[in-house]
Order: sequence, then structure tokens, then C-alpha cells
Amino acid sequence: MPSALNGLTDGFGRRITYLRISVTDRCDLRCRYCMSEHMSFMPRSAILSLEEIATIADAFIARGVRKIRLTGGEPLVRRGIGQLATVIGRHLETGALDELTLTTNATRLAEEAVMLRSAGMRRVNVSLDSRDPERFRHITRTGDLAKVDAGIAAAKAAGLRVKINMVALAGLNDDEIVPMLRWCGEEGHDLTLIETMPLGQIEEDRTDRYLPLDRVRADLSDRFTLTQLSETSGGPARYWRVEELGVKLGLITPLTHNFCETCNRVRLTAEGKLYMCLGQNDRVDLRAALRDNPPEARQAALDAALDAAMIAKPLRHEFELAMKESSPAVPRHMSVTGG
Ligand code: SAM
Ligand code: SF4
Repeated sequence: MPSALNGLTDGFGRRITYLRISVTDRCDLRCRYCMSEHMSFMPRSAILSLEEIATIADAFIARGVRKIRLTGGEPLVRRGIGQLATVIGRHLETGALDELTLTTNATRLAEEAVMLRSAGMRRVNVSLDSRDPERFRHITRTGDLAKVDAGIAAAKAAGLRVKINMVALAGLNDDEIVPMLRWCGEEGHDLTLIETMPLGQIEEDRTDRYLPLDRVRADLSDRFTLTQLSETSGGPARYWRVEELGVKLGLITPLTHNFCETCNRVRLTAEGKLYMCLGQNDRVDLRAALRDNPPEARQAALDAALDAAMIAKPLRHEFELAMKESSPAVPRHMSVTGG
């Protein structure tokens, strides 16, 4: 039986302690920077069952993963998500897992918030790119801001902390960054701004919408006192405190800065492919490890696949090159690999 002693370290000496699980590639919204209007989704038979996802999560936890994020597509449109969260959440009680969390568009959060809290979640990330109902609908193509607000209110009532994720889009929501910061201050949310990344074909040219966050930070520091914080999540985010508003501001800048040297994460797609980098194609097939082996050989097959993944994890993404060519770095949308 493997243990945390048999931890996951890649070929560059990076410890892998964070797993993101995309539980579905489907979504009830069609955000313009994320998806094309007419997406084709994976057939249901290709998608991991909830039991298969739980088995894979167990294998990662046994190998030293301490944090798991459920994402998608929209994780709350997957039937049985509460059951899955509860099963993974039992590792929080034993201390084998430090954190179980979720990234959501919040359209179904009002219905699910209590369940997520009972599964052991303490905080959730809500993606919200505009506070203007019409603009919100334009960006998401179909979204209803009132539902998102109801979801956020329910999450707070259930005792979940909410962090807002906002993709900064030139000419689309850049004028809302300061109002969003102020709103987060009033509501007690932290805010993370994200640069648009070249993932999957969409109708628009992403370079038209690319807004370097260094420029945003410079503009913000003319208006507010920004104190840089030393904390890191091992990911591409850097954090500041906006003193006047009491908001922790995260900036995710994969294009203007590359923080791959501290990368601690891997991503499981809904069909069981494990991608070692959001911006590269290297992967191992964990579904095959489960489905192509008899029950007694599955654990060993999964472990061997995780070892292969560690050897294959690339040093870094190459988003900058892809943006210059205005073509996606990888053909997969963020909704497939899991944001
Ligand atoms: N549906 C959920 C949501 O929207 O929060 C979870 C999945 S979504 C793919 C996760 C995050 O990825 C969201 O914050 C979204 O804004 C972000 N995202 C999607 N496509 C992106 C892109 N091309 N560049 C940067 N961020 C992107
Ligand atoms: Fe759906 Fe999230 Fe992508 Fe928007 S960003 S289309 S909510 S998966």
C-alpha cells in the first residue's frame, strides 16, 4: 500500500500536493473567452463515474496530495456531486487532506451550498466577470446575474467563504475592476483577477481581449495602497492587500510572469486524463488504468500511472508563444482541463 512517504515528486524536484478534478466538461453557461457558442461535449460513457473519481482521489491522497479542487465545466451541473464531495470530504476528518474546495459559476450554488459545507468545504471560488446584469449575460451568453447573487448569498449563509474570480477582458469589463473591488470590500470577499489564456478555439481572437495585469496593478496603486503579501498557493497567483478596502487581491498572470518553477498541481479531466500542465499536452490515462485492469490490479496500475505522470510533467507552459501567434496553446478548452 503506497503512503505519503511514497509521495509525488516530478523530474524537476517539485512536490505535487494539489489535484484539480474536472467532474464534467459540460456547463450551463457559454462564457465567450472560455467556450465557443456551439460546443460538443464528451459522450457520457467516456466520463469517469463518481466511484472512479473517488478511487483516483484516494490514490492521490495516499501519495501525499493535500488539497483537492472540484471544477469543470460547471461542477454543480454534475448529478451526484454532493455524494462525491462527501466521499472525498471524509479524508478531511482523518487529516489526510487539508482542503477540499470548488470553483463554480454559482448558478446552482443556492441549491448546493449547504451540502458543500456539510461535506467539509470551508470556501468556494465563484467566477464573476461583471456586476451589470446585461453585460453579465453578454459575457456568459446565457447567464442570469440574479441566480449568481442568490448562490453567493446562500454560500455565505451556509458558512462558506467566497472568493471572486474575474477574468480581466480589455474593452469588456476593464472598467468594472475598481467597482468589483469595492463590491468585494463591502461583501467581505477576496478578489482574484485572471489574464485570459489561449486555451481552445473560440469565436473571438483572445489577443484583442488580453489585458496585462501588471498594467492593472499599476493603475490600482495610483488609487489605493497595495501591500504585497508573501503567501503563495504554489500556483501563478500573487497577492496584495488593498488597504483602504480590506480586500485581498490576487493576480493570476501566466502570460506576463511565469511561475512554473513552483508548480505543485496536476489536473484530472472528466474522462480520466491526467494533465500535468494546463498549457501542455503531456498526459497519462487514469481511466485506462482503472477500466483495463481487473479489480485486484487497479491500485498498482493507478500507482504506476502516477509515477509515469511525474516523469512526464513538463517544466513550463508556453502561453506567450501561443498568444503571439493568436492560436490556442493547446486545443483543449479550460472547461475540459478544469480551471
Ligand atoms: N464553471 C466554473 C467557473 O466558471 O468557475 C469552473 C470552471 S471554469 C473553466 C474555471 C475558471 O477558469 C473560471 O474562473 C473561468 O473564468 C476561467 N477561465 C475559463 N477559460 C479561461 C481562459 N481562456 N483564460 C483564463 N481563464 C479562463
Ligand atoms: Fe462555464 Fe466556467 Fe467556462 Fe464560463 S468559465 S463557460 S461558467 S466552464
